[in-house]
Amino acid sequence: MTRLDQIRAAEAKLLLHTYDRNPILFERGEGAYLIDENGAKYLDLLSGIGVNALGYAHPAIEKAIVEQSRKLIHVSNLFYHEGQAELAQRLADRTGMDRVFFANTGTEAWEGALKLARAHAGLLRSEGKQISTKFLAMEQSFHGRTFGSVSTTHKAKYREPFGPVVPGVEFVRFNDIADLQAKFSSDVCAILVEAIQGEGGVRPISQEFFAEARKLADSTGALLMVDEIQAGMGRTGKWCAYQQYGIQPDVTTLAKPLAGGIPLGAICCTEEAARAIHAGMHGTTFGGGPLACAVAIAVIDTLEKDRLLAHAAELGDYFMDQLRGLAKKHEAIIDVRGKGLMIGAELDSADLAKLTVAEMLKRHIVINCTSDTTLRFLPPYILDRTQVDTAIAALDEIFTEH
Ligand code: PLP
Repeated sequence: MTRLDQIRAAEAKLLLHTYDRNPILFERGEGAYLIDENGAKYLDLLSGIGVNALGYAHPAIEKAIVEQSRKLIHVSNLFYHEGQAELAQRLADRTGMDRVFFANTGTEAWEGALKLARAHAGLLRSEGKQISTKFLAMEQSFHGRTFGSVSTTHKAKYREPFGPVVPGVEFVRFNDIADLQAKFSSDVCAILVEAIQGEGGVRPISQEFFAEARKLADSTGALLMVDEIQAGMGRTGKWCAYQQYGIQPDVTTLAKPLAGGIPLGAICCTEEAARAIHAGMHGTTFGGGPLACAVAIAVIDTLEKDRLLAHAAELGDYFMDQLRGLAKKHEAIIDVRGKGLMIGAELDSADLAKLTVAEMLKRHIVINCTSDTTLRFLPPYILDRTQVDTAIAALDEIFTEH
């Protein structure tokens, strides 16, 4: 029995069956590559589902972890430490927001944002405004797996086994302005969008729909909340994907690449929204701990020092051009979408998408498929053109053969 076989047998017996894993045992990583137990290198175009923006074993992350862990890994939120205010300032400057709350994961940040919206509506009601508690979420949305998050996530298979989910959520057809207008009223406390839907198939919001959501929210005092957990932190070439549209929300959530693989999420909001929260209303044991904050500061400073947002934008354009070139040659690719290094290639069948992911893995390239038919690329921002060319050549070979 190999080491991998032993682990597979043990996991099959011991773990809740939530994932069907690929039979590969990764031991370490270097730059844009993952390396398995036998030393084989895999080009990682998924970066741990959008987490490892600086790739693997980045010296800035290693330095921050080592130095901070020698000083202080955890202290309760009943006391101060150096990292939170410093990181919050960086996030406020880059998101255009006023205040920050630190959580541990994406779903936890989104969960807190939903609570903030309900509390804000309550505050407005106490001030005599007419506003109720309904959330308008989007079809094809994904916001995570905790109860509030999953209740505002569209896919039935994520919600229905756990019902009854949180009440008061209505889904709008994404980018359908008439549907948004028809469903919006003073009942709504927040409109919930991803500027580019990630799990929903790498689908950008339209400028007109986004602008209408902003306008409707402003008309009643409802919050416009943008989940940037997948698209944010520079992946599209701007700190937040909503900045591609010139539309400023009231609340945004960040996570995935925020602390380079150490769990950390953030709710960033306006002063107006923040009025609703007072000491004791919301909290966390681990969120915003010294280690995660120190690493997040190192991630942000490295992204800026190495101009990696501009690089993500330029390389993303190149990657999408190459994919569009492939689409001209292979009819199976019916659309190429995205921005920067958040890219989807829509195929004409779910079977082909599944097979393509498997064939890429055989060629030691990691991608995945989302929403059944969309090949998804979320590579580390340190990727280079030669690595893009390697992926394109592999895809060309696969679509020629199948
Ligand atoms: N929101 C979006 C847009 C996401 O893509 C994800 C994860 O894929 C989440 C929320 C949930 O984040 P987490 O898995 O860290 O809880």
